[in-house]
Amino acid sequence: MTASTPTVWFLTGSQGLYGPETVAQVEQQSQQIVEQLNVGGDLSLPVEWLPVLTDAESIRATVLAANADPDVVGLIAWMHTFSPAKMWIAGMDALRTPFLHLHTQANVSLPWGEIDMDFMNLNQAAHGDREFGYVQTRLGVPRTTVVGHVSDPAVRARVAAWQRSAVGVAAVRSLRLARFGDNMRDVAVTEGDKVEAQIRFGVSVQAYGVNDLVASVDAASDAEVDELVEAYGDLYDVAPELAVGGERHESLRDGARIEAGLRSFLTAGGFGAFTTNFEDLGGLRQLPGLAVQRLMAEGYGFGGEGDWKTSVMLHTIKAMAAGQPGGTSFMEDYTYHLGPGTPKILGAHMLEVCPTIAADRPRVEVHPLGIGDREDPVRLVFDATPGPAAVVGICDLGDRFRLVLNEVDVVTPDEPLPKLPVARAVWEPRPDLATSAESWLQAGGPHHTVLSTAVGTEELTSFAATIGVELLVIDEGTRRRDFLNELRWNQAAYRLGMGF
Ligand code: MN
Repeated sequence: MTASTPTVWFLTGSQGLYGPETVAQVEQQSQQIVEQLNVGGDLSLPVEWLPVLTDAESIRATVLAANADPDVVGLIAWMHTFSPAKMWIAGMDALRTPFLHLHTQANVSLPWGEIDMDFMNLNQAAHGDREFGYVQTRLGVPRTTVVGHVSDPAVRARVAAWQRSAVGVAAVRSLRLARFGDNMRDVAVTEGDKVEAQIRFGVSVQAYGVNDLVASVDAASDAEVDELVEAYGDLYDVAPELAVGGERHESLRDGARIEAGLRSFLTAGGFGAFTTNFEDLGGLRQLPGLAVQRLMAEGYGFGGEGDWKTSVMLHTIKAMAAGQPGGTSFMEDYTYHLGPGTPKILGAHMLEVCPTIAADRPRVEVHPLGIGDREDPVRLVFDATPGPAAVVGICDLGDRFRLVLNEVDVVTPDEPLPKLPVARAVWEPRPDLATSAESWLQAGGPHHTVLSTAVGTEELTSFAATIGVELLVIDEGTRRRDFLNELRWNQAAYRLGMGF
């Protein structure tokens, strides 16, 4: 679903003024910078060094080559010496690839006792990168800027987060999404402009009649169903009534058949995300629960009630999270605990929560569900792993998409929830529930979200900058009045057509 062997190119800027010996030194030292980036093992992708750039033609050719190569998911640039930035205009103006401006230098310390004009002429990033920053700002180049020495783990961590955002950009630009049915009737926030989504994000959103899916489900073989049932037994605690020989074992087989049919439909069409709608289940015997949960765990995006925008973001954030500890799930703010103790949100959905966020081995259970008007659906039930997380929502404001992100802490539920027949997460929003929810409501944020303990504000900030989409962050530092002003100022800025 993403580039096959993704890589990031490292560009070094200089000029011919200093003579070939200086450029040779620049070359050697920039290779050392790339080595230090790669050797730590903490980057998300390898960084590939490219020869030093000293003229406009080679800069533009390099950027165009990066744009055209699907394996190059990002570019990093650093001006070791002074690289007069007019030579960067044509290249940066053509840039389509996610971009990181790394403001670093070869040395950590000043050689106080030894420093001479040769050293000064070689190590000029402090002003060379400012010249470069000016032209990027002048052109409105979407970018992430990171400052510090590459030996600093905090610097490499930020580079790694930007790399993950770039993987998300590549994923969404090549994403195909299948909608089974339309959106839930009368619901507002799950609507949106699919043409604008394709222009902005690159995602292609395609509708299918749910009975196209039913045909694929009916075509699943008994052998495929047997194989899935066996996998369930290996991975989960299957309720005795659902296990082989149990009185409701057929329900589990029906669920497995839906999973096999859904997977083959998505695979055949090259889809990385999908939606369902309980109002439009056609010949499906159950509302897909277990099947959706397991496909999400494989990286598929999903949104309930036809929510294709959340499905797009789920797939995108899962692509960013590849290889990271933690998990990422479709989520919905369901109900509150307002006290005693710290106020909390109980998040869940009617069935579809991804087991990558499960704290313990999930249980496979079957329970009645009035919604959907079909047979009782099988589902995985679990509590979410405690830890810091991001909750991300997307809405269509009519003239643009808006992302809203709340930094939260997933916590262990105050008490067990023995009668709740769905997977869930309990979290404490930052800075507190009232400020978080007031800000979210004022922003018009949706009730469907993506909850991730694998990626967060750093990745989403770079992603939003690259895609050119608004991102509002609600975190420990959010204050009500400031947030309302940010909403007003953003509204004005976007209406003025200011580039970000
Ligand atoms: Mn919902």
